[in-house]
Amino acid sequence: MLDTAHLLFPTTFPAISRGKIDTLQVNLGYLCNQSCTHCHVNAGPKRTELMDRETVDQVLEFLEQQQVSTLDLTGGAPEMNGEFRYLVTEARALGVRVLDRCNLTILEEIGYETLAEFLAVQGVEVVASMPCYLKENVDHQRGKGVFQASIAGLQRLNRWGYGIEGSGLVLNLVFNPQGPNLPPPQGALEDDYKQKLKEGYGIEFNQLFTITNMPISRFGSMLLSKGQFDDYLALLKSSFSPTNLDTVMCRNLLSVDWQGYVYDCDFNQMLKMPVAHDQRERIHLRELVHTDITDWPIRIGEHCYGCTAGQGSSCGGALAE
Ligand code: SF4
Ligand code: SF4
Repeated sequence: MLDTAHLLFPTTFPAISRGKIDTLQVNLGYLCNQSCTHCHVNAGPKRTELMDRETVDQVLEFLEQQQVSTLDLTGGAPEMNGEFRYLVTEARALGVRVLDRCNLTILEEIGYETLAEFLAVQGVEVVASMPCYLKENVDHQRGKGVFQASIAGLQRLNRWGYGIEGSGLVLNLVFNPQGPNLPPPQGALEDDYKQKLKEGYGIEFNQLFTITNMPISRFGSMLLSKGQFDDYLALLKSSFSPTNLDTVMCRNLLSVDWQGYVYDCDFNQMLKMPVAHDQRERIHLRELVHTDITDWPIRIGEHCYGCTAGQGSSCGGALAE
């Protein structure tokens, strides 16, 4: 795989600093039942890195002490970590809103038959990758058979009440472009998705989040190998929208890797750019349990333009909707 990290520095991106943390985004490990071409964590079935119980308990202590309102679980497929159900149950008992970034196909894997029920009983919000409503595009980006399994996963979630009005169970979908272009307007694409998924498969969901691909990891490597890296970065920079600077997700989110080290966001985590402060090169979550990190500077690079281009991009979709 080609590495783009050295092409992201120095940067002209404006200096930004942290606000109060409202979301702890925790990467439970790189194990996944899929290996998608755009995956920015290079997850796959052979990865062995997984968060252990001790670190999971430190996550819970941090949530409680810092009164963080949202726990956002990611991976890999976070549900494949053996501590997943323990973490979710304990966090919900603390009154924390829990998001599961679910690839949908995991719901159809052998051994995960009770996952949808568990998520529903716990009131976990599901954020599910669905790069298109067309079979050809999904299978091209995420692998053969992924579309059919994703549809089955969505129908299963609907049966448990997810995405159904009045159920209180939230099902949001995530779109990211196939190639080196910005996502289309989020609202219009959501209307298309709702119509196509309802008509074709009887599927309902709450919101569609559009997310801009970052020029790093597997997607960055693909750009480099096709000679498209410079043009894509130029597109992100020329589409810079300063109004998005106040709402980029790193202002209020702290990202934690499978070992418990902290980053300003998931992308910085993949670039191995941990939060650095007081001459410490990297900081563990347990060191911050009683520390207020408001106003700490955020580590930036050229990839940050991916968050501010056009309508903006975050784990919760467009910033300027
Ligand atoms: S499903 Fe998600 S975590 Fe797994 S390989 Fe695909 S993009 Fe990566
Ligand atoms: S890439 Fe990360 S650090 Fe940079 S603006 Fe986006 S969220 Fe913030």
